[in-house]
Amino acid sequence: MSKLGGGNGGGCAICGKPVDQAHRPFCSGRCKTIDLGRWLDGDYRLPSEDAPDEAEIIDLASRVRTED
Ligand SMILES: [Zn+2]
Repeated sequence: MSKLGGGNGGGCAICGKPVDQAHRPFCSGRCKTIDLGRWLDGDYRLPSEDAPDEAEIIDLASRVRTED
């Protein structure tokens, strides 16, 4: 059995590109952030009828992205 060149069984969970070992199961920090953003986005919508500003979520996501 070969460990290399046999494919990675699906690729990045977000975009499907080959997975980077440093960012598994994603191809990059960006896709990791996108996944996190989705998670936060869902969490953010729970609390109340007072819907958060889209800009607020984008701002949060961009702040996370700068850590990449
Ligand atoms: Zn990706």
